[in-house]
Amino acid sequence: MRAFTYQGLPARVLFGVGSLARLGEEVERLGARSALVLCTPPQRDSAEEVCRLLGQRGAGIFDQAVMHVPIETAEQARRVAAELKADCCVAIGGGSTIGLGKAIALTSALPIIAVPTTFAGSEMTPIYGLTEAGLKRTGRDARVLPRTVIYDPTLTATLPAAIAGPSGMNAIAHAVEALYAQDANPVTSLMAEESIRALAAALPRVVSDPRDVEAASDALYGAWLAGICLGAVGMALHHKLCHTLGGSFNLPHAEMHTIVLPHSVAYNRAAAPEAMARIARALGGADPAAGLYDLAARLGAPLALADIGMPEDGLARAAELATQNPYFNPRAIDRDAILALLQSAHAGSRPSPVGG
Ligand code: NAD
Repeated sequence: MRAFTYQGLPARVLFGVGSLARLGEEVERLGARSALVLCTPPQRDSAEEVCRLLGQRGAGIFDQAVMHVPIETAEQARRVAAELKADCCVAIGGGSTIGLGKAIALTSALPIIAVPTTFAGSEMTPIYGLTEAGLKRTGRDARVLPRTVIYDPTLTATLPAAIAGPSGMNAIAHAVEALYAQDANPVTSLMAEESIRALAAALPRVVSDPRDVEAASDALYGAWLAGICLGAVGMALHHKLCHTLGGSFNLPHAEMHTIVLPHSVAYNRAAAPEAMARIARALGGADPAAGLYDLAARLGAPLALADIGMPEDGLARAAELATQNPYFNPRAIDRDAILALLQSAHAGSRPSPVGG
């Protein structure tokens, strides 16, 4: 076995149907008395339910979380937290809401209790993102890692299939890249393979019946493991491409991950044979690139960048940007090959299976 470094991150996880009912105990456990509840505008009802559960420990609701954490929203939320003398935040929602909690924690060190309602995985990472003047910058800071995460599978029942499928594929992308990360290690790889297996099996069931609580539990379990992988090891080409496309062309985050992933995997297929063998095993023996494409198709997710607003005449610029300051990647980054990858993703073509 190769030498490796493994750094576990501290987080307390409560998992199970109905676990949200334990929120009050968890706030108390942190020694907090006054929790600011964060949500997006459409998830206001969930935040009100959280406030009811908190009783006197609920300081108020800030319901303006939006995608990519604009700095103006972060500053407004920080002011509200200070005015209400909040001593912790409860973020109920997806990566956008948890990201807002992180923005507050970054400057105040307020502890976060995250209650994820998508499969994005942000709750398990010390990575934050803030968007200022149209530019998203990301960073790592131990203060933004949620202290407690409550995974309650009943909370994804309201997730429309069009959000659930891509959100789960976004989680799979974290696990896939963890398998060929520069700092991959046996422990993270175990979690990554198990994550892909759990998500690939559960997501089609979640999409066809969002109230199937067994399926939602399996998908959340997979998402949790994927989030640990994202927080533990570095990501590669696929995340660099998505960062570039998201930042410069403002494409929807989870859908973009879903579309690009099979093509990133096809690009790296020959250069990372061990990782590919694990992805294939987790997908039940399918070719890793074609298998991920087929999974996305089964989920009814978009398959072509053209369908989510990527202009064809932007592909060359995207290839140029993605090859500047590249992340580590198992296969060398070649501008022409990256352009070809992006063209395939734009057209939504199915990667040919090896030997197929
Ligand atoms: P999101 O948080 O933007 O949510 C998408 C939409 O779904 C929102 O309108 C939200 O209100 C709604 N929604 C969420 N849960 C719902 C539910 N159960 N029922 C009904 N509606 C629900 O989407 P996301 O994909 O979870 O997060 C994407 C963002 O998270 C991106 O900005 C991405 O960069 C970030 N992210 C960060 C990390 C990290 O480690 N920092 C990891 C993954 C994603």
